[in-house]
Amino acid sequence: MQRFLQIAPGVMVATAYRLTSTSTLVIADDGACLIIDPAVTVADLAALACDIRDAGLQLQAGYATHPHWDHVLWSRGLGDAPRYATAGAVDLFESMRTEMTDMLQQSEPGHDLELFGRLTALPGDGRQIPWTGQSAEVIVHDGHTPGHGAVFLPSAGVLVAGDMLSDIEIPLLDTVADEPLRDYRTGLQRLAAVPGVQWVVPGHGHVGDAAEFRRRLDADSRYLDLLTAGEPFEDPRMTAQWQRDSHAEQLRVVAGQDAGSG
Ligand SMILES: [Zn+2]
Repeated sequence: MQRFLQIAPGVMVATAYRLTSTSTLVIADDGACLIIDPAVTVADLAALACDIRDAGLQLQAGYATHPHWDHVLWSRGLGDAPRYATAGAVDLFESMRTEMTDMLQQSEPGHDLELFGRLTALPGDGRQIPWTGQSAEVIVHDGHTPGHGAVFLPSAGVLVAGDMLSDIEIPLLDTVADEPLRDYRTGLQRLAAVPGVQWVVPGHGHVGDAAEFRRRLDADSRYLDLLTAGEPFEDPRMTAQWQRDSHAEQLRVVAGQDAGSG
């Protein structure tokens, strides 16, 4: 993993070689810290624990943007801070723990399964991550998966988007949902409505500035429009075969929906 780089006051982002995954560390003046989407590999989680310890920080909370295997990992070295997620994310993960564990074992074996996806639902109305540092607002939607919760840090102007708004991945819809397109559009609308975004951090990909945030919103809306039209099309982000496969599947699912409703 590349080392953490500060993108705004108190907000550091590390980008991993594996899956171009990002980890976002939010640091308070008193040394308390919050980790969002910790890391994917055993080595990167260990490095994260070392970074936190070496910097003299106290990890107060973790947060998973959504209940997919690559966002809910942990290591003993990170300690026993609560690991929050939206209530919907917690429920979905528990209902899919077996499948998620299989995916983890196929993609990234070697993790401590005792710690895999041990999530706690956000308290209260579920709109804030409870910690003592800067406000961390949660924006919930079902676009990529039910219970997806992006995080906006208003004082830093940073939107941690989870698996949305990537420069290297097409929009990946929840194809088993009743209305994946509607859910994804709603998700994009909720992110577009966040005021004062200076930086966007995608779950996989590269940090973008305010103009890049708007560009990605447009690119993803355009992708959904083309998907809705139902004709084959290309997107410059589809470089890997798995993305081409996901794209083909999404075209199939959307076409099938149209046939069903017509
Ligand atoms: Zn992911």
